Amino acid sequence: MKKKPAVLASLLVALLIVGGLLYFKDTTAPAVTVTPGEGPVSKQRPLTIELLDQGAGLKSVRVVATQGDKVRELLSASYEPGTATARETVSLAGADLSDGPVQIVVNAVDHSIYSFGRGNRVEKTLSFTLDTRPPVISLVTTTHNISQGGGALILYRLDEEVERTGVEVGDFFFAGYRLQDNLYASLFAFPWMMKREDFNPRLLAVDLAGNERRSGFNFHANARNFPRDTINITDNFLNAKMPEFEPFFPGEKNHLDLFLRVNRELRERNVRELEEIGNRSVSRILWNGAFTRPLGSTHGLFAQGRTYFYQGREIDRATHLGIDIAGVAQMPVRAANSGTVVFADYFGIYGNCVIIDHGLGLMSLYSHLSHMSVNAGEKVDRGHEIGRSGTSGMAGGDHLHFGMLIGGLEVTPLEWWDPTWVRNNITSKLELIPGGAER
Ligand SMILES: [Zn+2]
Repeated sequence: MKKKPAVLASLLVALLIVGGLLYFKDTTAPAVTVTPGEGPVSKQRPLTIELLDQGAGLKSVRVVATQGDKVRELLSASYEPGTATARETVSLAGADLSDGPVQIVVNAVDHSIYSFGRGNRVEKTLSFTLDTRPPVISLVTTTHNISQGGGALILYRLDEEVERTGVEVGDFFFAGYRLQDNLYASLFAFPWMMKREDFNPRLLAVDLAGNERRSGFNFHANARNFPRDTINITDNFLNAKMPEFEPFFPGEKNHLDLFLRVNRELRERNVRELEEIGNRSVSRILWNGAFTRPLGSTHGLFAQGRTYFYQGREIDRATHLGIDIAGVAQMPVRAANSGTVVFADYFGIYGNCVIIDHGLGLMSLYSHLSHMSVNAGEKVDRGHEIGRSGTSGMAGGDHLHFGMLIGGLEVTPLEWWDPTWVRNNITSKLELIPGGAER
C-alpha cells in the first residue's frame, strides 16, 4: 500500500511529459505563399494561395481584401486534421472594390494544441493594385491591304503598359513591337494556307494585370491562287541526298521511306523551329526600302504546291515556301537588306542556312548554301556577302532558296522585292510617325 503514491506520481510525471510533448510537438505556424505577391491584379487573374503545415496540419484559412473602410471576405475554408498542404484560388471578381491600391490579408491556423489550444496562427498582408480596365487601342493607320501569303503593317497606340500585344490571325499571333512611348507596330501576315473567309485579323492588347482588349480594324484582303508543280524523285537523287538525312532518322534504311519522313516530319519540325526563331526579332526597324532580289533565274515559286512522283506514282505533296533562284554554281549570296544575323547553321531541309533579322518580326532566309561566311549576332549591310549558293539540305541542284518571314511564317518575297509595294504598304505608314521611326 505504501507504493501507491509513488505509482501515482510516476503516472503524473508521464502524463506531463506526454502532454508537454503534444503541446510543444508543433509550435510552427503554417507557411503561406501568395502568387503573384505584388503588383497589378485583376478580376480575371486570380491569386493563388499555397498553404503548408507539416506539423499538426492545416485547420483553417481566411482571406479578406481591404480598401479604405471596405473589408470583403474572399475566402474562408477549414481542413480535416492531417491536411499538410492546400492550394486555394482567390478571385477579386464580384468583390465590389474600386480600381487602385488594395490589401489582401491571409490568416491561417493549424491543428496544433499550442497556444492554449488555439493553434499556431499566421497573418500575412500583401499590397496590390487592382486594375480592371483593359488598355485602350487607338489606330494610327487606316488602310490595311493584304493578299493571301503576303503581309501588312498596322500602327497603333496603347494608353498603358502591356505584357502582350499584336495581331491575332486565327491561331497565328504576330507580335506588336514598341516603336516609341505608346506607339506600336505590328507586321502581320495573311497566312498562305488560310482561306479568305477565315482571315479575320484582330488587334490584341493585354495589360500587366491581364485585362484584354481586342479590336477589329479595316482591312481589304485578297485571296490568291498559287501555282502547282510536279517533281520526279529519281534513284540518283535519293542516293545522292539521303545520306545527309540518315542521322535525323537512324534505322530508316530504305531511301524512299527516309525521303518521305524528311519531306513530312523534318519539314514540319523546321517550320516550328522557324516560328521560334521569328520570336527573336528586335523592336527596331533595321531595314530600309525594298529588298534586293538575288541575281539569277526563278525556278521555284512561293506557296507552290508540289506533287512528288516516284517511278510514275504519286508519293507525296508539300508546299514550297520561298523562291528558288539559280545562277552559276556557288554564286555569292548577299544580304537583301540590312539587319542582324539571327541564325547561321545547318537547318534540316534548308541545309546550311542564314537568317537575317530586319526588326519588327521581319526576317530574310537564305538556304542550301555551300558555304556560310557570317555568324549569328553579326550586323550586316545590304549587299554584304553572307555565303555561297549550293545543294545542302533538300536541294537537287545548286540554287539559292530565298525566303521572307513575318513572325517566323513564310510570306511571299515578291512584295518585299517590289519598291512600289514597300512604299505604299510600309514606308508611307512609317512616315506617319512623328520624328520618324528610330533606326
Ligand atoms: Zn526552294
